[in-house]
Amino acid sequence: MSAEAIYDLHSHSSASDGILSPAALVSRAKSNNVTALALTDHDTVAGLAAAQEQARLEDLDLIPGIEFSTQWQGRGIHIVGLNIDPRARSIEKAVQLQTTRRARRAEDIADKLARMGVADALEGARRYAGEAAIGRPHFARFLLESGYVNNINQAFKRYLGAGKPGDVKQMWPEFDEVVAWIREAGGIAVLAHPCKYKMTRSKLCVMVQAFVDAGGRGIEVISGAQNPNQLRDITGIAHKFDLLASCGSDFHSPGQAWQELGRFGALPRDLKPVWEAFATAG
Ligand code: AMP
Ligand code: MN
Ligand code: MN
Ligand code: MN
Repeated sequence: MSAEAIYDLHSHSSASDGILSPAALVSRAKSNNVTALALTDHDTVAGLAAAQEQARLEDLDLIPGIEFSTQWQGRGIHIVGLNIDPRARSIEKAVQLQTTRRARRAEDIADKLARMGVADALEGARRYAGEAAIGRPHFARFLLESGYVNNINQAFKRYLGAGKPGDVKQMWPEFDEVVAWIREAGGIAVLAHPCKYKMTRSKLCVMVQAFVDAGGRGIEVISGAQNPNQLRDITGIAHKFDLLASCGSDFHSPGQAWQELGRFGALPRDLKPVWEAFATAG
């Protein structure tokens, strides 16, 4: 056993678009020597109780989290809430709202896919989602299974990714609302995977400023496997805006080495790790 603390503060279970059950996710984290894991399913806290239970059995620190879908200037942006009280009124209300929005959005996406010649996508996606709210990865798996695409990446490139018909995001709330939900639940709002939005540095800085103005306090300096330039750029932004530093794999499924649980480098030493603020969040 490793004596070193390893934090992985971004992961998904089958309660959203991950493949593993919450319990299996915790076990995998434990095998990978993760000592503190945040489960941050998309717009839901449904997996937290089972994850917490397994974490107790395996002596791992489970940090309750959630990843909210938001929009800023017409772009889909993700905000992670860490160390939230999942029973808080604001979270209950938020999950209810977002779940309703996801259900409507799934219908919209299916309609758009139908216009592109893809029939029965809603039923198809639902099969993959099971009990969970439908997300684009469930549509992607259906498109793959039905032979419309050869791999998941192609499903996003042709049908679901940024700028494609299946990229429906106008129902998502703005930063202020989402950050308020997280803060009311005693959590810390963290800007997720800043390098994934394909923005210029100046645009990213405008976005981060809006996030800070809304009460956001942290940024994912490390999100899965990253190149050194990205690490340097985001470290610079964390300093510039005096943000707490977070790190996480964004794990969804086994077999994706670039987002394996706990498998990423250490945070730069001159940044303040977000977990140091967990005890004092409010
Ligand atoms: P949604 O929550 O429905 O907006 O779907 C977003 C999710 O789709 C992300 O959290 C990823 O899990 C997944 N995703 C986004 N882009 C890609 C991509 N290019 N390839 C595979 N999965 C992706
Ligand atoms: Mn996802
Ligand atoms: Mn995300
Ligand atoms: Mn995620």
